[in-house]
Parts: sequence; C-alpha cells; structure tokens
Amino acid sequence: MVRENNIVPTSKPPRSRWAPNTKGVYSERPIYDSARQIVGVTRQLHIRPGAVGARVKHTVYHEIGHAIDAMNVHTNGYNTGQKLNKRQDVFAALQADRTSIVALRLKRDLGDQYSDEDLKLVASGRTVRRTDEAGRTRVLSLGKWGTYARSDSEVFADAYGAWRLDPAGLKKVAPNLAKVFEELL
Ligand SMILES: [Zn+2]
Repeated sequence: MVRENNIVPTSKPPRSRWAPNTKGVYSERPIYDSARQIVGVTRQLHIRPGAVGARVKHTVYHEIGHAIDAMNVHTNGYNTGQKLNKRQDVFAALQADRTSIVALRLKRDLGDQYSDEDLKLVASGRTVRRTDEAGRTRVLSLGKWGTYARSDSEVFADAYGAWRLDPAGLKKVAPNLAKVFEELL
C-alpha cells in the first residue's frame, strides 16, 4: 500500500518544526493543476529523527494506520470522503475496544509502573491514586490528552500499529479491531 500510493517516508516535520512529544505524523496535501483543480495527492509519513528501536516501528505503522483510515481503503486519487473509522462496523469495533487500545498505549509509555487493571481504569477516563511502600502517592489520569488519545482516529491508528507489530497480541486485547484488520487488509 505504501508503495502503490507513493507514500513517502521523511524525517522532516510536517510543518516548520516538530510539536513537543510528537514522534510521527501522516500528512496529505492535494496537488493542483494550473486551473486549481485537484489532480492528485502527496502523502507523507513524517518520522521524527532520534527515536530508536521498536518504538520507531510502532510509530511508522501507527502513521500508516492514519493513511489507511484517511484513504478509507480507496487506494487511488484524493479521497475527501469519510474516514474508514466512521464506517458502521469499524466504528462498532472501535467502541468495543477503545479502552483496551488506550490502556495498551499507556503501557507502552509507562512500562510496568501500573497494573493492567489500573491502566484500564485510567484509559476509561478514571483517576487512579496509588501509594507505594515508601508512602509516595502517585496520581494517574488521562487529563486533556484523553480527548486526543480516545478519539476515533487515534484509536484506529494505534490499534493498527499494534496489530502490525503483534497480530496475535492485539487479537487478545482488542478482538473486534483485530477482526476488522484481518478482514479488510
Ligand atoms: Zn496518531
């Protein structure tokens, strides 16, 4: 898909500079002819330099997930129509697996600092307070980031990234989305 659609990987930021904490971005820009008609699209995967290891792979697949979502599996031309995540069956799968995917994303960022149960609570929008043996209390909640992390586009892209790295693993935590990817792609 990346080759057929000429999606170009680049280490350049999508605009003049990288936003803080952004590891990757998928961008689409229409190509116009002299009469200002859209005749094509430039698709780019922007991958921030300096990131290393398995995280880079996930970032690349996550951004490809955004590309698939935006193209709505139409693989030619400039698709200005609905995103794939708005399709009824895909949206139903997103609803069913949303909290699991956000919990998986938190686990990738936080490692084993919190139990899977706590991560699921936080991913669902709750605030978790835990006091360790030294008496220090840690508070974890999604805060403002939650609106972004739980959005349809982010959950779709992040689940796709996880599925590409570990299909069997994703099937365990997000069976509905795993089924969507298996059937669609
Ligand atoms: Zn994203």
